[in-house]
Amino acid sequence: MQAYRFALDLTPGQERAVLMNAGAARVAHNWALAYVKAVMDQRLAERSYGVVAADLTPAIGWSLPALRKAWNGAKADVAPWWAECSKEAFNTGLDALARGLKNWSDSRSGRRAGRRAGFPRFKSRHRSTPNIRFTTGVIRVEPDRKHVTLPRLGRLKLHESARKLARRLEAGTARILSATVRKVAGRWHVAFCVEVERLIGLPSLPGVVVGVDVGVTHLAALSTGELVRNPRHLSAGGRRLRRLNRQMSRRVRPDRRLGQRPSKRWRRARARLARAHARVANLRGDGLHQLTAQLSRKYGTVVVEDLNVVGMLRNRRLARHIADAGLAQLRRQLGYKTAWNGGHLVMADRWYPSSKTCSGCGIVKAKLALSERTYTCSACGLVLDRDLNAARNLAALVCEVTDARSSQESLNGRGADHKTRLGGLVAVKRQPGTASAGETGTVLPQGRAPDHVLVWRS
Ligand SMILES: [Zn+2]
Repeated sequence: MQAYRFALDLTPGQERAVLMNAGAARVAHNWALAYVKAVMDQRLAERSYGVVAADLTPAIGWSLPALRKAWNGAKADVAPWWAECSKEAFNTGLDALARGLKNWSDSRSGRRAGRRAGFPRFKSRHRSTPNIRFTTGVIRVEPDRKHVTLPRLGRLKLHESARKLARRLEAGTARILSATVRKVAGRWHVAFCVEVERLIGLPSLPGVVVGVDVGVTHLAALSTGELVRNPRHLSAGGRRLRRLNRQMSRRVRPDRRLGQRPSKRWRRARARLARAHARVANLRGDGLHQLTAQLSRKYGTVVVEDLNVVGMLRNRRLARHIADAGLAQLRRQLGYKTAWNGGHLVMADRWYPSSKTCSGCGIVKAKLALSERTYTCSACGLVLDRDLNAARNLAALVCEVTDARSSQESLNGRGADHKTRLGGLVAVKRQPGTASAGETGTVLPQGRAPDHVLVWRS
């Protein structure tokens, strides 16, 4: 499964049609949410009066089919204009609600990891991103590769060529599952969710292990000695963003307490700011994609550190820079791209002291301030860039683990001989009750404290 996203050039008429359908999605979402809430409140009130469970107002299902059934029963009253819109529009809204409700209830019962998911909220015309997803009907990329055809909306012009997707469709190695039209920062996009048949290739250096230390000073330091600059797009675009923010703050903003509606100039200023932010995000995304594509095409095994990005974002001094570097995104992209290219991504446990360890002799420093940019070893006299030292440690970690369970001779990123077994086994922490399904086998990296973990992600 893969997404292909293209920018659209809609005519004013087409834009109206999309907005109408996106509005219909919102209406269905809000109606169903109000319905679900009303039933919940009713049951709660009945319980407080001491009504027995059997006599309560029947609960309604939160699944998409249940919500759709309820909507289809009510749509003639709620939205007499329903026939003017695509049924996929209502489906989009109800699907969003069904997922929201599921996330909320899973989160409450502990079945969902991560931050607490709140109860779904009503969608506002002013706040929500207009979108509509088509899963059935005619979804097609036209032979000229400059147009797409979607149900109800018809032929839409693309702003860019869809050749990459079209080639796959023509070769029969891809199948479109759905198409979503969405407005992001004032620009319309269509995103195809595509099932792709992929020939897993081989990286150009299949036996080579590269350690990648991601950070803020350098976006990435490779154990081969290469340093990838952090472009810091947010800081670079900072002046423009600050100016636009200032501009917006001088316009008449909406104020609920005063019943103040926003001025047109405020709306325009907000749109300009959104475009500037989108540009920063696009530049960042492009740089990350290029870096991860290069790494996964070249190296057989990529080792990164499992950074606690969410935790780091809580640090107010670091947060903006961490988010700007897109560290979590980098790791995610490496995960699927190494798999596409026939390589492996190995994650070192987040408590592995990659920065504090000497890559020459293996001694671990007790303390290393963030401001120390150069690693100086008092034991063997090694002097090396801090991030490069960490990258070398990460690469060496894999060599150590795989030495013990080797079957193949290979060469690592530093040119040293070692043995690598590609694919398969996972080295995880041996701790009762923490092993997750699918992760088996336990090998502790030799010569390290026992709580350092390596996990194969292939
Ligand atoms: Zn040393």
